[in-house]
This record gives sequence, C-alpha cells and structure tokens, in this order.
Amino acid sequence: MTEQRIPFVKVQLDDDDIAAVEGVLRSGWLTTASQVKALEEELCAYTGARFVNAVNSATAAMHLCLAAWDLGPGDEVITTPYTFTATANVVLHCGATPVLVDVVDGTANIDPRLVEAAITPKTKAIIPVHIAGEPCDMDALMAMARPRGIKVLEDAAHAIGTLYRGRAIGTVSDAAAFSFYANKTMTTGEGGALATNDAELSARVRRLTLHGMSRDAYNRYGAGGSWRYDIEEFGFKDNLTDIAAALGRAQLVKLERFIEERTRVAQRYFANLRDEEHILLPVFSEENRQPWHLFMIRIKNETSPVQRDDVINQLAERGIATSVHFIPLHYHTAYQKLGRWAKGDFPVAERFFEGEISLPMYPAMTNEEVDEVCQALREILHP
Ligand SMILES: *Cc1c(COP(=O)(O)O)cnc(C)c1O
Repeated sequence: MTEQRIPFVKVQLDDDDIAAVEGVLRSGWLTTASQVKALEEELCAYTGARFVNAVNSATAAMHLCLAAWDLGPGDEVITTPYTFTATANVVLHCGATPVLVDVVDGTANIDPRLVEAAITPKTKAIIPVHIAGEPCDMDALMAMARPRGIKVLEDAAHAIGTLYRGRAIGTVSDAAAFSFYANKTMTTGEGGALATNDAELSARVRRLTLHGMSRDAYNRYGAGGSWRYDIEEFGFKDNLTDIAAALGRAQLVKLERFIEERTRVAQRYFANLRDEEHILLPVFSEENRQPWHLFMIRIKNETSPVQRDDVINQLAERGIATSVHFIPLHYHTAYQKLGRWAKGDFPVAERFFEGEISLPMYPAMTNEEVDEVCQALREILHP
C-alpha cells in the first residue's frame, strides 16, 4: 500500500485540548454535568441561539428534535438524497416518511422549488442540509414553511460557523443540528448539539435525551440533590459526557482560527485550480460565510480524459487521500428495499455524485500540501 502523505482530514488536537480532557478525568465526574452546561452556554454565545442542547451526535440531535415535535406514522418530512444517511434514518426511526427532492446544481443543496412542489397536507417538517457548510436558501424555505405551520430542522453537521446572510446557523429556522464527530470542523470525538430559539422544544429535547426523566443525573447526585425522580415519558439515552464536552469547549475557543485556516486552504485551491478545464470548483455565495467543512470539486466526466474513480485511485497512488460526499441515499440497499425510489429519480444529485471528489481539507494543511494536491490533479487530468 502507498504511504499516505496527505490525509483527507487531520484532527487538530493541541495541548489545551488534552489538558481540558485530563482536567475532567482528574475531577472524578465523567458524565453530563458542568462541562456540558458550559459548552451549551458557550455555543449559545457563539451562535446567538437562545437554547443549545448538547447531545452525543448530530444524529441524536435530529432524532430528538423530530421526536419532540411528535412526528410519527403518516407524517412526511422533506429532505434530499444528497446527504449522509443519518438525515433520513431519523425520520424513519420516528415512523414518519422521508420525502426526497432533488438538489440545485453547484451547491448540491435542497432545491426550494422542488420542496414547494412536494408539500402535502401531511408535510410536518423540512430538513435542509448545508452541504460543505454552504447554507441552503433558508429565506425561501422559511417563507414556504412558516405560513403552513411546517417545521424546519437544519442538518447543520457541516455548518458550525456558517453565516447565512449575516445570521449564524442556529438562529435562522426552528432548530439546527451540529455535529462534533471526529472529522467535523470542531470535534468532541462523538457529539452534537441542537440549537433553537424555542424554549419548549429545548426543554422537551432535554427530557427525551435522558430517558424522559424529570431531572438530570447531575441534579440527582449533586450536593443538595435528591434520589427522587420521575419518568414523565419514554425517552432515549443520548446525553453527552463531560469528557467530550471539555474537548468541545477547548475546540470552540479555536473554531474561528480553524475556519480562517480552512478559508486559506480553500482560497489556495481556487487560485490553483481556476483554469483547470476538467474540474468544476465549489459554488458559494459571497453574501454568506462558508466555513469550508469540505472542499468538493467535480470531475467533468463527459469531457475529461480520466474519470472520477480513476482520479481518486491515482491520487491515492501518490499518497493523497480523498473522499466522496455523498453516495445518494436511494443508491443504498436499505433505501432500495423501501421500493420508493429508482436510479434516475434525482438527476442533479446523481450527476453531482458521479463527478464529486472531496479534496484534503484541514486547518494544519500547508500551502505546499495544497499545491501538491493541485499539481497531482493537473498531471492526472492531462495524461
Ligand atoms: C456527519 C454528518 C451527520 C451525522 O453526524 P453525527 O454527529 O455523526 O451523528 C449528519 N448529517 C451530515 C450531512 C453529516 O455529514
């Protein structure tokens, strides 16, 4: 196997991250308590959202949100096939029905016109996904959702740090779910959060996060706490640990710097690849701030002498790791078994996927490494 010289992502872990986790380990209190509460407050301050619930994944954040909205059988939730499976899994886990619509070319974000056409009396929610951190057309989505009483939950797994027309993601819709998975823009190893301005939603999510308990374990075991609790409804077990939250707090302090470095890397890719005829570069709008969670290029398979899969293999042979985001949901076995979608149903998403390569992107990536990736791409595309 070729030595991997340039990874696809490199987790940025510094001494302060390690010290933060060590502090929790030495404190003797490992799970949900003061660190989680502090992370929630700091995420409120960072996003401007009134409430943040830190949980153990973005998947959990989305599931809890839909559960708190009482979504169930007969309800429809509109999203796209161009996402990670979690986005639609959580709809199915509630017993509700995912309704998939195609994306816009360029960003691979949900197409608001197709959303409007897919709305039925059963539509309870819309889940737009901010692909690579570039925000969806939220004004258009909110304008069709609000008057009809349809909820909007943003899959903001890529979008911590995104500004949509000057507003932070987390304040734009009914709720937004962030991911702190290991390869996301900031990490807690495993973790996520739901941001909302809705006090009732946040309170219900908090209860559902921990078995439907009347009060959390910290209050039960802390000084002055009582052994008494009540199970008020049947909840889940999705709480974040203090170990993870401490890492998240240390990462959040550095998030703006991470985004600056990612922006530097993105700008260098753009400058380097601007004139490459066989590549389509990411599309983004200057009116937003894109945190560059991913740098997604597309190979023009129709005219390029080398196709996407070969480009990926040849980059790997040179020690350059890449990824592909995303295999459209309806290509997967479990979705095919639902018998609702066929190849060809989402032509924009399918064509986007067929050309897509996510290039190496991480804050510590040097300009020389970016140049090497670009030079390799040019050589591969002009054999
Ligand atoms: C990573 C990701 C998720 C899931 O995040 P977890 O924190 O691992 O649950 C959901 N949606 C998208 C678009 C993602 O990229």
